[in-house]
Amino acid sequence: MSKAHEVEALCEEATPGQIAQAALRLGCRSVAFTYNDPVAWAEYALDTARECRISGLRTVAVTAGYITPEARPEFFSGMDAANVDLKAFTERFYHKLCFAHLQPVLDTLLYLKRETEVWFEITTLVIPGENDSPDEIARMCDWIAENLGVDVPLHLSAFHPAFKLMDHPATPAETLQRARRQALERGLRYVYTGNVVDPAGQTTWCPGCGQALIERDWYELGAWRLEENRCAACGQEIAGRFEGPPGGWGRRRIPIRV
Ligand SMILES: [Zn+2]
Repeated sequence: MSKAHEVEALCEEATPGQIAQAALRLGCRSVAFTYNDPVAWAEYALDTARECRISGLRTVAVTAGYITPEARPEFFSGMDAANVDLKAFTERFYHKLCFAHLQPVLDTLLYLKRETEVWFEITTLVIPGENDSPDEIARMCDWIAENLGVDVPLHLSAFHPAFKLMDHPATPAETLQRARRQALERGLRYVYTGNVVDPAGQTTWCPGCGQALIERDWYELGAWRLEENRCAACGQEIAGRFEGPPGGWGRRRIPIRV
């Protein structure tokens, strides 16, 4: 998923308890396990998740969803939320670019939907020529709507050349916007573009009245028009786990030492 460039990052050390304490000290509401897939270091992720929950923090797994049926229950029992990469909707892509298979990822999504209370969302990195055809996007959205329901948020992210895929161009914004329109036309209610400048594509819109409910521009938040989990204008229930009002953290990042 990513390659760490900074040696210091590889030399840092933190116990599960230290991570929970640091998150509490900084006023975080949740801790996300990401960059390398936490499925690959599940023991540490689960130990940390346990410490986080004891401290009242929520836990989020950012994962490719490539995990055996035997390991799924234990892994996801530690998580309040998950963002699952659905990297493409063809076995060809999973075989050629991931040395893996599509079906186990679909099985993970079905498991989350049918057998857990985990709040989950899907992210697809749209790569020109590999997984961006209108036909593939349509089939993927139809599968999501039919099997997971229209309330599962779908994030369509732009690819930028990196690591071993330097020979592919960056994803044009128009491709993401076309894919987003397709997903909305096929009934998905919460579809977002990512890694591009597209405030309208990153805003949460009310499926009932069309009001902008949570305005987003990258990491900056604008208007907040939710009352608990309902549209403040028309009362429509909005799928998700919300805790307003939003803060003003924006795109700042602070590296920390625990
Ligand atoms: Zn509304």
